[in-house]
Amino acid sequence: MSDEVNCAEALAKLFDFLDAEISELDGDRIRAHLADCDGCLHEYDIEDHLKALVRRSCKEAAPAELHVRIRQQLTVLRTRLEP
Ligand SMILES: [Zn+2]
Repeated sequence: MSDEVNCAEALAKLFDFLDAEISELDGDRIRAHLADCDGCLHEYDIEDHLKALVRRSCKEAAPAELHVRIRQQLTVLRTRLEP
């Protein structure tokens, strides 16, 4: 139990994960939390955050890879949330 992430940590690290700033292992823990926690997705509206992240990144570089990664993450989250 001790290595379970809470909601705030999961969401904070999700964005680090999308920026490839944390390990795959941490990423797996975060995805596992989000898959089990409806509250995170609804309360923090991850998709809005991701869209904002994409917009911000677009100004800096051409983040084709980021788009792909975000889409993959959302697909994973949706797949796991659906019964
Ligand atoms: Zn949560």
